[in-house]
Amino acid sequence: MLALSAEGILPKVDYAVFADTGWEPAAVYKHLDRLEREIAKPAGIPILRVSSGNIRKDALDPDHRFASMPLYILNKDGRPGMTRRQCTGEYKIKPIKKKVREILGYPYPVRIPKGVFVEQWVGISTDEFHRAKDADVQYMRNRHPLIVDMDWSRTDCVRYLTTLGLADTPKSSCLGCPFHGNAQWRHIRDTSPSEWDNVVEFDAAIRKGNARANATGNRLLGQAFLHRSRVPLGEAPIDHVTAAEWAQRQGELGTGPDADELEQGVADGCSPWACRGTDAEPAQDDYGLAS
Ligand code: SF4
Repeated sequence: MLALSAEGILPKVDYAVFADTGWEPAAVYKHLDRLEREIAKPAGIPILRVSSGNIRKDALDPDHRFASMPLYILNKDGRPGMTRRQCTGEYKIKPIKKKVREILGYPYPVRIPKGVFVEQWVGISTDEFHRAKDADVQYMRNRHPLIVDMDWSRTDCVRYLTTLGLADTPKSSCLGCPFHGNAQWRHIRDTSPSEWDNVVEFDAAIRKGNARANATGNRLLGQAFLHRSRVPLGEAPIDHVTAAEWAQRQGELGTGPDADELEQGVADGCSPWACRGTDAEPAQDDYGLAS
């Protein structure tokens, strides 16, 4: 959408916002710098980087309130569960709303008069139209230009990016997001040994829940994992090749809503307004990990 706006195919936006959880892959930060340098700046579109802190650091800091990640839980009796996902709201939506209020001139807690709002573009393509939602506040009105103006699927977006020399656009999400599929875990392991060490180390560190919950006596009565097999990440079965991966290897881009989530994980990373995680709300509660 930034490129479409910069090229004048879509109207020019006033700002582009990147909500930084502090734990994106290095490739994403590098790509963002490149977009800023080659596309945003020449078009006069400022990229605003907003943040509520570093999600990895916060999870391991006993003195910090931690907004829970969607971790896979193995209870003492062997029952599987999942912790509540609060991280997208805390690390993405919250800092974006804060910035929008600043832009409008009504920083929190000033009341925003009725009729004052920003138009916010959300990059959802036609194959994910069911994720297109309204914002939950009156001062933001969501618009979905890839659907409404362009009628573009994910494949159309990739094709356009390729014409701009951006075929290698990486998926944005936390390095250790539990919504990763096996393909994403393998990609980290096989392309970036230091980032793989980083996530394996984090996975081991949260086995007993987040540091703050433990420090306040709110212990996890079981074990937490990043991989859905509920096995330590370094030993998890991430090399299992599924039908979805075979299909993709044969060039069938996008296997549709039935694509094997185990393999592919979250299709579009963690979009603040369309995180696939909202479709996968856990059946179980937060196990005390949200304190
Ligand atoms: S990418 Fe994953 S861990 Fe990061 S904020 Fe989104 S859901 Fe949470």
